[in-house]
Amino acid sequence: MRVVIVGAGTFGASLAWWLAREGDDVTLVDQFEPGDRRATSGGETRLIRVGHGDQDYYTAMAWRARTLWRELEAESGADLFVECGIAWFAHGDDGWEAESERTIRAQGIPCEHLDTAGAAALFPGLGTGDLAWVLFEPHTGVLRAQRAVQALAAQAAEHGARIVRARATPAGTAAALDDGTRLEGDAVVWACGPWLARLFPEHVALRITLQELLFFAAGPEWRGIPGWCDYDRATYGTPDLDELGAKAAADYEGPELDPDAELPEQATTEQVVRGYFDERFPALAVAPLVESRTCRYETTADTNFVASRHPEHRHVWLVGGGSGHGFKHGPALAERLAGALHRDVELPAMFAVGERRHGRSLRTAGHGVRL
Ligand SMILES: Cc1cc2nc3c(=O)[nH]c(=O)nc-3n(C[C@H](O)[C@H](O)[C@H](O)COP(=O)(O)OP(=O)(O)OC[C@H]3O[C@@H](n4cnc5c(N)ncnc54)[C@H](O)[C@@H]3O)c2cc1C
Repeated sequence: MRVVIVGAGTFGASLAWWLAREGDDVTLVDQFEPGDRRATSGGETRLIRVGHGDQDYYTAMAWRARTLWRELEAESGADLFVECGIAWFAHGDDGWEAESERTIRAQGIPCEHLDTAGAAALFPGLGTGDLAWVLFEPHTGVLRAQRAVQALAAQAAEHGARIVRARATPAGTAAALDDGTRLEGDAVVWACGPWLARLFPEHVALRITLQELLFFAAGPEWRGIPGWCDYDRATYGTPDLDELGAKAAADYEGPELDPDAELPEQATTEQVVRGYFDERFPALAVAPLVESRTCRYETTADTNFVASRHPEHRHVWLVGGGSGHGFKHGPALAERLAGALHRDVELPAMFAVGERRHGRSLRTAGHGVRL
């Protein structure tokens, strides 16, 4: 099969890797080098977690992706996945974490239900006053994002994919490049992150927002600890990985930002995150800020991804809407897309193009909430 993929973020590069491995003739086009920080998949790290509330499809897909990231590591020799575990801070007995625990256990994936004393042993000075319990996923953790995307593209090329640096525009069923080249295929896949809605405004609606990541000089005890998510309080973070500092982010939606607009240098959420630390990690509340990064979320109304045929062109596919939680799923979504391309296996209706209603967030309760 001849496949053209526009977009070398986690979704497009994973698909290129998967299809090239299966022997397809793949061309992967991107306006930037894979891993560029202007793409949503840029930046150093992303969490990989299986907890998705009662959403069993995403739980299974994340767990499968974990296996496939390990396969990519074995194939490429790159060190991509740090299995430090993820802790979910639960504020009650019947919320997102309880639903996640039920879904995870039903799939036979290991997890632990910790009381607050048990959870305190996982972190330096964990504040637990507002917590009921903690859901711990011992076998998930953190992915080295930029390196992972670069490894996907490199391995796709290793299996014969052509990597083309160009900006593409839809032209009927083809992709037209800036230099006038027309790329046609048995399938043309547009996996264009924040740019997808601009390319296909009649079929995809995305909110593009400016988001921030903060890195704190936290000391050696913040290495080797788990990543963490506070769904209800819309905050998450990672251990100090590769001496970047302990990472944390307020997961509310920032101001809207055009996909082509420059990412601002200056972070504005430091006080919000320090306010959270006052209660959760008092040691971090006074730790110096060493670095901040800005990036974009491209969010659908219900935070479900888009992975669907173009309604008018059967061989054209639209893929994206990562909604702040897409990175980890890249290779497993690619496996499912390959099934749809090769064998007409159906993808779930929740990935369809067209109108979406605001739904419960698959990221944190910060979806739809402005800072
Ligand atoms: C701050 C932040 C934290 C996040 N945290 C997590 C996390 O912890 N865990 C997690 O799983 N996910 C997380 N996410 C979400 C995740 O990173 C995204 O959902 C995912 O990376 C989206 O990948 P993508 O391939 O759809 O898009 P992108 O990575 O943006 O890739 C799209 C590519 O298409 C290219 N492109 C677009 N238009 C064109 C065109 N016309 N011609 C040529 N090329 C084009 C772009 O250059 C780009 O490289 C986070 C995101 C952000 C911003």
